[in-house]
Amino acid sequence: MASSGRKSPHSPPTSAQSDGPASATTHVQTVDTQKKSVRISTSNANEYLLYLRDYGVLICRVHGFAVRQLENHLRIAHQGSAKDRREVVGMFTHCRSRAPPTVPLLEPLQEPFEALALPQKAFLCAAPECGVISISRDGIRIQCNKAHGWRSSAKQRIYWGQVWVQTFFNAAGPQRYFTVDYEEQPTPTEESETPAAASIGASEGRFDDILKKCDYDLDKH
Ligand SMILES: [Zn+2]
Ligand SMILES: [Zn+2]
Repeated sequence: MASSGRKSPHSPPTSAQSDGPASATTHVQTVDTQKKSVRISTSNANEYLLYLRDYGVLICRVHGFAVRQLENHLRIAHQGSAKDRREVVGMFTHCRSRAPPTVPLLEPLQEPFEALALPQKAFLCAAPECGVISISRDGIRIQCNKAHGWRSSAKQRIYWGQVWVQTFFNAAGPQRYFTVDYEEQPTPTEESETPAAASIGASEGRFDDILKKCDYDLDKH
C-alpha cells in the first residue's frame, strides 16, 4: 500500500478523465437494487464502511466507492431509519474526507483494492511522462491526438495500452484511476472483447515496459 503523501505516479491531476461509467443496463439496475436493500446501522457499519486515514476517504464496501456525504449516501443508497443514519454518521464524524483531487492514488499495479468495485478495463497513454488513463477508447484516442499529435497510421495504429484500473470515486467529475494487477475473470459477455484486447498488447510489444518507464519518469519529478 502506498504511503500517504507520495507523489502519485499518475499525476498531474489533469490525468483524470471524466468518462462516465458505461450506460446503465438492466443488470446494473438489478445490482443497485440489491445494494440498496443493505441496511447499514451501528451494528454492521464497521463491516460495510471503511475509513482510510492516509487517503482521507470513507469507502462504502457495498457500493465499492468512496462516499463524500455519508448521511446522503445512507439515505439515498441504503435501507435504514433516520435514527440508523444519525447514529452511523455519529460513528464516523471523526473521519475527515479529503477533496477528491487531493486524495492520493494507490501505487500502480498492486493487487486490486478489495473494498472498491472490481477493476475495469482502461487505456493508458503510452507517451513517457504522460500517465493519462481513460476508460474510453475515444477518450484516450483524443488525448493522444491532442496532447501528442498522434494520428493513427498503419505503422502506429494505437498509442496506448490496455490496463486494469480502479477508482475511489464513481462520479464522473472526481474520477481518477490507478492501475491494478488484475486478470480478467472469463465471463460469457466479455469473451467477444478478449481477442481484440490481446491484440492491442501484442501489437505494441511489451506494454508493461512502457508503463514502467512512465512510472520511472514520473518518480524522478
Ligand atoms: Zn453504499
Ligand atoms: Zn498522453
